[in-house]
Amino acid sequence: MPAPGSGAPLIPLYDCRAENQPYRAAIDAAIREVLDAGHYILGRQLAAFEQELAAYCGTAQAIGVGSGLEALALTLEGYRQLGRLRDGDEFIVPTHGFIATALAVTRAGLTPVFCDIDPDTYLLGADGLQAALTRRTRGIVAVHLYGRVCAMDVVRTFAAAHGLLVIEDAAQAIGARWEGRPAGALGDAAAFSFYPTKNLGGLGDGGAITTNDAALAATIRALRNYGGVEKYRHHLCGTNSRLDELQAAVLRAKLPHLDRTLERKRALAARYAKALAGSPLALPAAPADPANHTWHLYVVRTGDRDPFVARMRELGVGCGIHYPRAIHEQDAYAHHARRSFPHAEQAAREVVSLPIGSAMTEAELDRVAHAIGEATASRRARPLAR
Ligand SMILES: *Cc1c(COP(=O)(O)O)cnc(C)c1O
Repeated sequence: MPAPGSGAPLIPLYDCRAENQPYRAAIDAAIREVLDAGHYILGRQLAAFEQELAAYCGTAQAIGVGSGLEALALTLEGYRQLGRLRDGDEFIVPTHGFIATALAVTRAGLTPVFCDIDPDTYLLGADGLQAALTRRTRGIVAVHLYGRVCAMDVVRTFAAAHGLLVIEDAAQAIGARWEGRPAGALGDAAAFSFYPTKNLGGLGDGGAITTNDAALAATIRALRNYGGVEKYRHHLCGTNSRLDELQAAVLRAKLPHLDRTLERKRALAARYAKALAGSPLALPAAPADPANHTWHLYVVRTGDRDPFVARMRELGVGCGIHYPRAIHEQDAYAHHARRSFPHAEQAAREVVSLPIGSAMTEAELDRVAHAIGEATASRRARPLAR
């Protein structure tokens, strides 16, 4: 264990280098292939990755774009181009999560309407959806936060009853399944992110959309490429947001191993659950089906967060906070009608993410658990008031 206050934690929250190490040879070969091909944008690597991702998700289409935020925004802009959405239409967005979800709605000229979460799963639920519904609601962004799929029976029933689109924000949940079907195939369209720390991480920014809607896919393919698919023919006012060949090649090298890394994370999560069973921390609720969760993050709660995180750091363990403020509490959304969302606000004050990379060893996890024992013994974590 390092001396208190020493530099970088021995066990970081996430170690991108270690995560990519098992694929080093394949990634090197992929990079060399792209370099040698001499074609760096919209080439055969992207076309192949799109096919492989669509097959993995069980959808007819996948479209690679510049980031997860772009994937969400272009999906919504695609629906606008198709006449399915217009200015001021509302999308329900859970307020506990990453701000990109709301930003995409805003960028598409739509209005995010925030909803509270189920405090056990951190995901949207029937009560939150009902409270957010208005005459202008046109859709739901079902955010599979922390790698866990939303209760899609609830989401679908609600959407069908009110004629709403369901967009999955699957940025954290590639490979998660609901009743056997993968995230990406559970709504009308889905957005993925390949940001380096995600379960399928690239060596930079990247994202994708999956859908069975051929018209939507064709529109997004045009939007991501300056509004056209043929060179110098532009039928839409599009943008430049393409998953480049290098990222596509790297992701192709990693995708065949994804399910194995997710199994590894499930094993680590189970080990945490056992090791921390007696601790004063509130542990994540186990999903009904292990396939529902991919453990992008392993999130616990404590009423005594700041001293806990500081003590963990002294003990050599890097923790994270996802996320310290609900989206409706961000200044960017200060102009929104102020409502309160008690479950989300409490979660924002109490959540702590523990390290859970697939490259983590059992010994490292046990050291995290041991550090938690020390951190909570020396400074009794306050029990949770719900
Ligand atoms: C990472 C993430 C995004 C945005 O993805 P980027 O590739 O970083 O733009 C959107 N939503 C959620 C839930 C995310 O975790």
